[in-house]
Amino acid sequence: MYKVTREIHFCYGHRLLNYSGKCRHLHGHNGKVEIELYAEKLNELGMVRDFEEIKQVVQVWIDDNLDHNMILCRRDPLIPALEAGKERYYLIDENPTAEAISKLIYDYAISQKLPVSEVRLWETPKSFASYSE
Ligand SMILES: [Zn+2]
Repeated sequence: MYKVTREIHFCYGHRLLNYSGKCRHLHGHNGKVEIELYAEKLNELGMVRDFEEIKQVVQVWIDDNLDHNMILCRRDPLIPALEAGKERYYLIDENPTAEAISKLIYDYAISQKLPVSEVRLWETPKSFASYSE
């Protein structure tokens, strides 16, 4: 099997609900996401997919939706305060862990018909979470 991986960098904020560690407070990350695509056979150009295509599809969506945004759980009681302060946010159903954000990006890439094998989100230079099926 062939695989290609494109890295995308973005900045995001979040906080975790029902968590006793310091990530219960609002804070941010310089995240790095790795989008890994696979193919059993290469296309007529000898590629899994053009790196530029991954960028056009996934990076544009990340830039529009997640970059410099607060990614929060839909149940977060801070939402009315952010609303009042005219701050932007992106809501998800789960606690916005690196695992949940990996799955969010994976699901988007799949919805765009990219043959994704795995998405890895590096939350810090030493820690990443991944999602694959
Ligand atoms: Zn964090």
